[in-house]
Amino acid sequence: MSSSRDSLVDALSMKEGNGEHSYDTNSHYQRSVFSEIEHVVVESIIEMLMNLDYPEYIKVTDLGCSSGRNTLFAMSEIVNTIIQSYHQKGRPNAPEIECCLNDLPHNDFNTTFKLVPSFLEKLKMEVKGKCFVSGVPNSFYSRLFPSMSLHLAHSSFSLHWLSRVPDGLENNNTSIHINDTSPPDVYKSYLNQFKNDFSLFLRMRSEEIVPNGQMVLTFVGRKVSDPLSKNCFQVWSLLSDCILDLVSEGIIKESGMHSFSMPFYNPNEEEVREVVINEGSFKINKIETHDHIVPYKIEKDEEELSLELMEAGKERATGIRCITEPLLVAHFGETVIDQVFDKYAQYMAKYLSVSSRRPNMTLNICFSLTRKNKDSLFFYVCQPDMISKLWNSFIVF
Ligand code: SAH
Repeated sequence: MSSSRDSLVDALSMKEGNGEHSYDTNSHYQRSVFSEIEHVVVESIIEMLMNLDYPEYIKVTDLGCSSGRNTLFAMSEIVNTIIQSYHQKGRPNAPEIECCLNDLPHNDFNTTFKLVPSFLEKLKMEVKGKCFVSGVPNSFYSRLFPSMSLHLAHSSFSLHWLSRVPDGLENNNTSIHINDTSPPDVYKSYLNQFKNDFSLFLRMRSEEIVPNGQMVLTFVGRKVSDPLSKNCFQVWSLLSDCILDLVSEGIIKESGMHSFSMPFYNPNEEEVREVVINEGSFKINKIETHDHIVPYKIEKDEEELSLELMEAGKERATGIRCITEPLLVAHFGETVIDQVFDKYAQYMAKYLSVSSRRPNMTLNICFSLTRKNKDSLFFYVCQPDMISKLWNSFIVF
């Protein structure tokens, strides 16, 4: 059952359908984060339309759309904003809008597609918009669209997933990610993989997005620059503890634990900014950070509290299960999943009971970017290799 590090990412997808453990049923948190950053998307759309002089046809994409309602929630806000902007500008004809929903090929697109007719109907009633929805099943670390065909790219809660498990994690045996038991090289391996992947992502989009087109990207990120702080991504530290327990109970093989690592990196703001600047195709318009709404308020007496904590622990466990189950099943097999998440619920309840005394180290980072205009002198002068050439000739001079 155990998959190799390289093939693990092939199994990456959120839990399909709309059952008890599905992504659609358990991703209200991700949906609420879109509401927090929505104003950034609206500002980007308005700026893009002004710069592109209100084109007749607009192509938008949701990169890493997953399955279910979230992507159509984001798309309907985007389409509504575009059409209302045309009305407000007194443009007689609203544009035709193409909405391209992208995810990896294993994603359950069908659950989303079944919701498309009611999405289109609502749109027709509310804003009289003409909208066309399609699926794009491929990795966003490759080309997805023809050159210079895309006007707006949105992506939330997706870019922290890496294209592969990094090399150099051999000595990270008691953790499935980075934590305080990890050797320092582990952090470097993850950071390098993130830099390579995100840089490639920007390069691919730079070929597809029209000059002055926009991107709004929301990551799960970190507050601190010290990656080895235990709370860096507590979700994976707790999951490591559950898997370690099952190893000591003889339910999971030690070798299975050693060969499993999360293809995930939650960058801090500076790490994202550095990649954008070095890649050079996009200008940063805005960066916003929002705290995770995690802390749990403890105001109950002890018995009530433990019941309530257990319920909260279970709810969080289901939230993590819907984003990890296909990956865990591919590596450890189906039979261990219930046990992993029963343990997770207990560890999470314990964690929540003390979390108000611990600093929360994760936060959501939203970047709004504009595709630079290749024809402008400013674009060439701002390329990293051009800056060093200019600097060298300045020194020679
Ligand atoms: N944007 C949605 C879903 C986030 S879940 C929301 O905010 O609710 C993250 C999604 O990113 C998953 O469906 C996963 O399959 C997808 N993903 C991860 N790596 C990807 C890649 N390389 N290319 C395309 N999609 C990817």
